Amino acid sequence: MDDWKMDFINAQARLPHWLSHLIRPRLIFLPGWWLNPLGAWAYLHLVFIGPGLVDAPLAVRRYIIGHEYGHIQSNHTILHFVYWCAVLCFLAAVVEQMPVLGISSCLLLTISLSLILQPHLARKREYQADKIAALVFGPEVALQGALWMADKTGMMNDEFRCARLEHLGWKR
Ligand SMILES: [Zn+2]
Repeated sequence: MDDWKMDFINAQARLPHWLSHLIRPRLIFLPGWWLNPLGAWAYLHLVFIGPGLVDAPLAVRRYIIGHEYGHIQSNHTILHFVYWCAVLCFLAAVVEQMPVLGISSCLLLTISLSLILQPHLARKREYQADKIAALVFGPEVALQGALWMADKTGMMNDEFRCARLEHLGWKR
């Protein structure tokens, strides 16, 4: 796990994120019983790693670190902060009977959710995170890692996954 931590620190040193001075990005290793062992996610300033990935080859580890940190570095996860901030403001508005805060937090909640869930934007974010992985650890490493992930997760026939691989230089 030290290798993961070192690569995570290196990625941040290479491309720092403006919020990292206030909230340090953290790597969380999910427990062995986790139902999606080959999954990895970035949420808020946290990167979650599935148990089946811990012993993955170096290129895979670096691709995952680069990709997930890429979501943080590209400000994608700021949307999660905005969402939770809106939820807290909405609850405060209900408890304290503050209509202006209630309406504005509802608006913020709607905007952040639609930005998070819109498929077109979600796809764009995946391309961008892949690009960061290639930038931080090199295009060969990113492609090698992405191919391993696509193969092991049975996604080689998935159109969007193949499009992502092509963006990383893969030839069908
Ligand atoms: Zn992603």
